Amino acid sequence: GSVVTVGELAEAIGVSAVEVIKSLIRRGIMASINQQIDYETAAAVAAEFGVETEERVPEVIQQASAAIEHQLREGAGDPEAQPRPPVVTIMGHVDHGKTKLLDAIRETNVAEGEAGGITQHIGAYQVEVQGRKITFLDTPGHEAFTAMRARGAQVTDIAVLVVAADDGVMPQTKEAISHAKAANVPIIVAINKIDLPSANPMRVKQQLAEVGVVPEEFGGDVPVVEISAKQRLGIEDLLEMILLVADLMELKANPNRPAIGVIIEAKVDQTRGPVATALIQSGTLQLRDVVVVGGTWGRIRAMFDDRGRRVRRAGPSTPVEILGLLEVPEAGDLLQVVDDEKTARDLAEERARQRRAETFSEMRVVKLDELHAGI
Ligand code: GDP
Ligand code: MG
Repeated sequence: GSVVTVGELAEAIGVSAVEVIKSLIRRGIMASINQQIDYETAAAVAAEFGVETEERVPEVIQQASAAIEHQLREGAGDPEAQPRPPVVTIMGHVDHGKTKLLDAIRETNVAEGEAGGITQHIGAYQVEVQGRKITFLDTPGHEAFTAMRARGAQVTDIAVLVVAADDGVMPQTKEAISHAKAANVPIIVAINKIDLPSANPMRVKQQLAEVGVVPEEFGGDVPVVEISAKQRLGIEDLLEMILLVADLMELKANPNRPAIGVIIEAKVDQTRGPVATALIQSGTLQLRDVVVVGGTWGRIRAMFDDRGRRVRRAGPSTPVEILGLLEVPEAGDLLQVVDDEKTARDLAEERARQRRAETFSEMRVVKLDELHAGI
């Protein structure tokens, strides 16, 4: 959305700034005349004074958003689009074995791959199966999913739902199912811990069917693989199933254009400054590219893959650690390559301005609510 100051709003709707400030106070927002407020709030105030508003999004933002939408929507329709690896998120109830499964997949693959290829923790990694790649998001499933969805970023192509064979469908299993369904992401069920004597895979399948995740075995469309992450059983079957589902989805992206991606993780490194892991969704990110990431920007100074190796470029579905941003972005922020530093600065500033205004409005409302609760 766009942003306006209290003073500008007052002038636009033809009332005094004091009237606007009073109206804001009634909404739980304590603002000064120079405070920037978000569009939603401004529109509500205007409506109170009988003025209808129409949102005018700044040009830089409009153009940038249009470019991103075009590129991501175009996807498979782009004549230069090429098949890309599926991006997979592991979800499931606590202690059902998500971490163990991610480790099992990673280690199985490292053993097959080149010696000493120890995966760095950058929030995502890639494995190779039958000469094809699969990208796994390594961030805590639910949080990553919800944070990114909240920012409108869709990164996951396939969700692997881990359900412990001895425990069955639990509250977070159901939560994961509703996240995946809301995002329209296909589910593959991995019934884990089949090594346990108390394992009861059939009961798990029945429970899943009851909550609308009907296994193929019962005539539904959800593939189910039985595994033991601990004993490394069924891992290959699961990976093959992921490729099979990916084939049906015909995942494609054009690698021959400026990159668009999503931030998976970010932090400040004592010596290297802001470090972020981006998952490239479309195009190819190259060293020296100028990027806008959420409310910040920078020039790509160095890039590393999931094994800590320096790389010069990263194509679709590739996770890559990047250096060169001025500030630390947030998980779920979009990354977009732009033509030059001026465009980057303008776009980042505008985004940061909007974000501050939105945060301000939300924060003040919460504070006032707390105040009421305290009374
Ligand atoms: P998360 O909370 O979903 O990430 O679960 P973890 O991967 O941390 O696993 C929770 C516990 O279950 C740990 O003690 C694991 O060692 C154990 N576990 C995970 N997978 C298996 C399995 O296949 N078999 C058995 N017996 N235990 C497992
Ligand atoms: Mg875990």
